[in-house]
Amino acid sequence: MQLRENNIKKLTGEVFDVLVVGAGINGASAAAALSGKGARVALIDRGDFASSTSMHSSNLVWGGIKYMESGDFALVRKLCKSRNHLIRSYPSTVQEIRFLTTIHEGFRYHPLYPWAGAWLYWLMGNGFTQRPHFLSTRAIKARESIIDIRRATGGFEYSDAYLHDNDARFVFNFVRNALDFGTVAANYVESVGARHEQGGWVVTAHDREADARFDIRARVLINASGPWVDEHNTLSGQRTAHRHVFSKGIHLIVPRLTGSRRVLAFFADDGRLFFVIPMGARTCIGTTDTRVERPEVAATDDDIRFVLENINSRLALDRPLTVSDIISIRCGVRPLAVKPSGGEKRDFLKLSRKHAIDVDRQARHLSIFGGKLTDCLNVGEEVAAEVRRLGVELAYPSYRWYGEPDRAVRDAFLHQARLMHLDDMTTESASEPLSQRLWRRYGAQAMEILEDIRQDPRQGEVLIEGTEYLRGELKLARRHEMVTRLEDFLRRRSKISLVVREEVIRASPGLREACQLLFGDQAQARLDEYLASTGSLIPDSLDEKA
Ligand SMILES: Cc1cc2nc3c(=O)[nH]c(=O)nc-3n(C[C@H](O)[C@H](O)[C@H](O)COP(=O)(O)OP(=O)(O)OC[C@H]3O[C@@H](n4cnc5c(N)ncnc54)[C@H](O)[C@@H]3O)c2cc1C
Repeated sequence: MQLRENNIKKLTGEVFDVLVVGAGINGASAAAALSGKGARVALIDRGDFASSTSMHSSNLVWGGIKYMESGDFALVRKLCKSRNHLIRSYPSTVQEIRFLTTIHEGFRYHPLYPWAGAWLYWLMGNGFTQRPHFLSTRAIKARESIIDIRRATGGFEYSDAYLHDNDARFVFNFVRNALDFGTVAANYVESVGARHEQGGWVVTAHDREADARFDIRARVLINASGPWVDEHNTLSGQRTAHRHVFSKGIHLIVPRLTGSRRVLAFFADDGRLFFVIPMGARTCIGTTDTRVERPEVAATDDDIRFVLENINSRLALDRPLTVSDIISIRCGVRPLAVKPSGGEKRDFLKLSRKHAIDVDRQARHLSIFGGKLTDCLNVGEEVAAEVRRLGVELAYPSYRWYGEPDRAVRDAFLHQARLMHLDDMTTESASEPLSQRLWRRYGAQAMEILEDIRQDPRQGEVLIEGTEYLRGELKLARRHEMVTRLEDFLRRRSKISLVVREEVIRASPGLREACQLLFGDQAQARLDEYLASTGSLIPDSLDEKA
């Protein structure tokens, strides 16, 4: 908490070059790019970092093969290049993965047609990944026995990439980089109003933890509040060329359905691509695409039924999946950028997923619309270029503000880990060796955990049963990761509450010690706050029928 308290003090003490409102992927990458290149940056979010759309994605880093059907080739080409760049820059986090797509009878095309599309897709991605393969129904069954091929007509396998940990952790690592570059960031600080005054911006901020208000001053204001961009522009009196429409999507996390590390893709009953995505010891299934009017959403009975029915009719499981198999639910809205002049009237599912940055030069204000996790490096670079055009000097315009630490740092970490036999401490249920996981999550900071374990071997023990997280990781989180509420750690810095049932977490004897490690003398209050929270997102109506 010390980091947050100090940062809140710093937020009031100076005029920043740039204030970024919203710390989802767009705000986090903008802050990392700008501060890495030398700007003085402040970053606030009214919830935790990545606590909205950016924690509800499909965890895919992909060129968007499905956008080829709507002819959005420029977007596909751009996203394929971004995907390749992310795979190269984050080799332990963003990893190539095969997509096994099964085509069923009645699908709008013969399987050869999408297979040809997969080749074009591969070429548009500069042939960076493994080549596509056409698959007969027998070959599909041989690769993945859980696929029901009775109504299948064939399929194909191609490559894209996925986030090995999860989206929220990926975003947090941009926030962490931004902090390293001097960004003054704080979670649970809301912008409740912004006015232009004497050539700069004054934002009225509300510290939701202390229930206190203060002003933050900056020369440039960036509105990166995702689905709430329009709402914030109303607060600040900004008019923009774009605005958002919303598409709701849900995912269900269930026990692991198949041991293979590949994504299974199908076309759902509404004709959209539908995925079975590996998530360590779990499987993530979804998603849906429903137009909604407001960004505040929850999964409904219909959403959940749609996902379960689609999965059950395409897989040959020992028994169908039911509500009682659901471990957790992800639900968010895709903010889609449209121009009032017509874009919105197009077939909703065909609306472009491109991002747009609207700039008001006179007021020195940027609004970031739409976008994807996959697009984050482009957003960071484009925002930095725009801010520079607005007259903010960037002392290091070519600085590479993203990517894992150099190979030499990684080799040094892995060597030390080998010498102390770290991987022998890997738990039986773990999905990968400990050294690999610690490096991917913490990069160079993972060295601190090695030192803690050397000094006290208990730091290498798992604290919350059924998870892979060590005492030493919680210590590190307290120091470096601005964990303000217990949920920040359970759901976003780690993915514990995605993969462990809520009732198991709540009953875990390790939870109290976790709170002590994370919050010190505030431990009891934070534990009580968590235990009193609303809990399960599974609708009661379905719960009863489980
Ligand atoms: C179901 C689904 C699946 C998806 N799958 C993928 C995928 O596989 N791959 C991919 O690349 N993309 C995917 N996306 C898209 C991607 O997740 C989003 O485009 C992206 O996360 C949007 O990020 P953002 O930063 O714009 O918004 P957000 O993540 O919503 O961040 C905005 C932040 O602003 C904060 N905020 C709002 N108002 C204020 C205020 N007044 N003051 C302070 N803070 C404020 C919010 O708390 C929030 O944290 C998916 C999206 C969905 C919904």
